[in-house]
Amino acid sequence: MKFAAQKGTRDILPSEIYKWQKAERMFADVCHMYGYEEIRIPTFEQTDLFQRGVGDTTDVVQKEMYTFNDKGGRSITLRPEGTAGVVRSYIENGMSSLPNPVRLFYNITAFRYENVQKGRYREFHQFGLEAFGSEGPDIDAEIISILTVFFKKVGLKNIKLCINSIGCPTCRKKYNEVLKDYFRPNLDSMCDDCKARFDKNPLRMIDCKDDRCKKFAEGAPRLIDYLCEDCNNHFEGLKKNLDTLGITYTIDSGIVRGLDYYTRTVFEFVSENVGTQGTILGGGRYDGLVATMDGAPTPGIGFAMGAERFLLEADAQGIDFEEPNYVKVYFADLSPEAKDQIKKLVYELRLNDIGCEMDLMGRAFRAQMKYAGKHNIPYLVAIGDDELSSGVVKVKCMADGSQTDVELSKIVDYFKSILA
Ligand code: ATP
Ligand code: MG
Repeated sequence: MKFAAQKGTRDILPSEIYKWQKAERMFADVCHMYGYEEIRIPTFEQTDLFQRGVGDTTDVVQKEMYTFNDKGGRSITLRPEGTAGVVRSYIENGMSSLPNPVRLFYNITAFRYENVQKGRYREFHQFGLEAFGSEGPDIDAEIISILTVFFKKVGLKNIKLCINSIGCPTCRKKYNEVLKDYFRPNLDSMCDDCKARFDKNPLRMIDCKDDRCKKFAEGAPRLIDYLCEDCNNHFEGLKKNLDTLGITYTIDSGIVRGLDYYTRTVFEFVSENVGTQGTILGGGRYDGLVATMDGAPTPGIGFAMGAERFLLEADAQGIDFEEPNYVKVYFADLSPEAKDQIKKLVYELRLNDIGCEMDLMGRAFRAQMKYAGKHNIPYLVAIGDDELSSGVVKVKCMADGSQTDVELSKIVDYFKSILA
């Protein structure tokens, strides 16, 4: 039998891993620079956590979760996103007693049972962050600026920022009635999910992916026109902050986000490039979530960026992540005695943080040189009996073909000085 990776999962091979490593490092560096610390949360949680946290009227919970019973009879779900787990950890570990804001970032795998397409997988990765304890809107703008800084450092251009406000329970109460009045005459011709959402969570109907519902959803009244005074002030504050930083944005009153926990600020960064999956990331404020999960009422805000979509976009824009060359020197041997000497040399160099390689295949000299060339190893040292007796070797620089005589006893110092 031939095994294959499961539908919607992918291997990240050595030929592309350097892009991931670089992106992960750059994201972590920017987060650290803003005072965020990394958190690592478990891959699976009890199913209720997501039902309550993400919301049981969402597509994610209703259609996309990987849920199963473990051998102990517990209902377990592979995390479809990071926020619910981070909020659980925040509450469970008493992080509310830490100085505010509590700021955490993460790099996780997430799992959703989806229709697989370019930029849409069943196992995917998210770079994300969450900040607790600050009501903003200063922090809302600061979080958006983390992304603009990150994109700038990577060299990504033309990523459009779209913002919206979806208010608080107060404005939503009034708005829900307006929305229900709007949808009521057509409810019979909408999908079953929307019929159920009509009473439970009409805002979700705006986000429905079913063609029968989309045409009604498009003309629906928008929450942003029904904001209460506090929410309106908050949104104005966000816009003012962004204007101060010179961050351009578009107000898209159609953004409601696919997860139930959002309040007030919601935002997305969108590109034209990533096929039909143009949304590189989404985020927003969730002031009610910590309390919903039985923590003390605490405002929160965060985002999650799809790492695959980010890298697809980076590739489309021709971003060079510069594949590193960890191995700097190849030692080719011309005799068994030389090979013994080389074993000691490479060990010493490695102890001194200089990457090097020697033959492990019993190859002839010419084949060793060919191997070094194939791997683009920048320096070459050939050692035979002559070099052993003279105690001097030639170091060849492959970039310009130049050769330098170096005493064997000083080889570590030599490479330290030229590779520094
Ligand atoms: P979409 O509308 O594309 O389904 P979403 O609203 O479900 O996205 P979020 O839950 O907000 O997505 O997740 C944040 C980000 O994670 C998305 O903007 C996207 O970049 C990425 N993402 C979500 N689902 C997938 C997936 N199945 N495969 C790859 N990336 C994904
Ligand atoms: Mg989705």
